[in-house]
Amino acid sequence: MTICAGFDSYRASPADMRVVTSDGQSIAAHSYVLASASPVLERMIDRAQRGWGAECTIPVLGVSFDAVHAFIHFLYSSKSKVVPAEEEAVGANWAQLLALAHAYRVGWLKRAAEAAVSARLTPERAVDMLKLARLCDAPRLYMRCARLAAKEFASVEQSDGWRFARRHDAALELELLTLLEDADQRNERWARERAAQEACRQLGEAMASLEHIFPGDSGAKAGCADADAPCARAGCTCRGLQVLMRHFATCPKKMAPGGCARCKRMLQLFRLHASVCDRPDRACRVPLCSHFKAKAQTGKADKTWRLLVKKVTRAKVMSSLAERKVVPEVVAESWARYSRRGAKLR
Ligand SMILES: [Zn+2]
Ligand SMILES: [Zn+2]
Ligand SMILES: [Zn+2]
Repeated sequence: MTICAGFDSYRASPADMRVVTSDGQSIAAHSYVLASASPVLERMIDRAQRGWGAECTIPVLGVSFDAVHAFIHFLYSSKSKVVPAEEEAVGANWAQLLALAHAYRVGWLKRAAEAAVSARLTPERAVDMLKLARLCDAPRLYMRCARLAAKEFASVEQSDGWRFARRHDAALELELLTLLEDADQRNERWARERAAQEACRQLGEAMASLEHIFPGDSGAKAGCADADAPCARAGCTCRGLQVLMRHFATCPKKMAPGGCARCKRMLQLFRLHASVCDRPDRACRVPLCSHFKAKAQTGKADKTWRLLVKKVTRAKVMSSLAERKVVPEVVAESWARYSRRGAKLR
């Protein structure tokens, strides 16, 4: 048995114990340092000191010598923090350190190891690290592995960890498949929500365009009446609406049973306008505005429609705020974010 690098230089007093590793090497250490750093080591040292042997020897098995050496180094450092240079030096041994910190109940080192393993995660190691995270009760690492497995499943599927799980660990395979399915469902839900948000944004834009085409003041010249002249408004949909309105004005199937899809859409837009219109009754020149307003007085709109009106009102406000010459920075930013998110789906 050879005594490798010890920790004598750390303390004035000579080492009074040894830590033995799996490969038969041992590390000289101070029992009071190790006992104060880990409650598990404290119990082991206490038991060993009450034994017959002349020297206190503690086995730390199942991991490499380098990992045990790094572990003891951190117990000596007693600064509850890992500096970047140390993190680099430990390198590939962080997974073993996580297991040691968990087994010997060194909380601060466990958190540092969990973060270090997460930072070095690759698809090839995702399944093994997920297993480790489960064994060591490390939820953040577990979630990181699950997310990576969902994102890069093609690479994960090629890893030894995944192949091993398929052959020998049915429970782990099932767990992984469930995690992947959950991630898929989550992505679908996000996509649906984003699509709905984009639809509201477009409707809000259409409402703002309607008000642009038919300005509120009845004495004023129509704002955007000329379908052939380009509209000066940023991100404007006036042209598209004007084409749709021209169709609506002349379509013979407008009122026919079964109707015309484009006309139905136009009618929905007029109805939506009436729901969000805050102009006085006579002052609004948007077609059918007063008709739909009167109709809304008599019957109560269903819940879905009311929710749509609420969302479109918000989108319309955002759209008209972004149009102003001097826009508060915070509004411009959130409008840009709102539009960008929608643009991704187009
Ligand atoms: Zn316009
Ligand atoms: Zn039509
Ligand atoms: Zn109106």
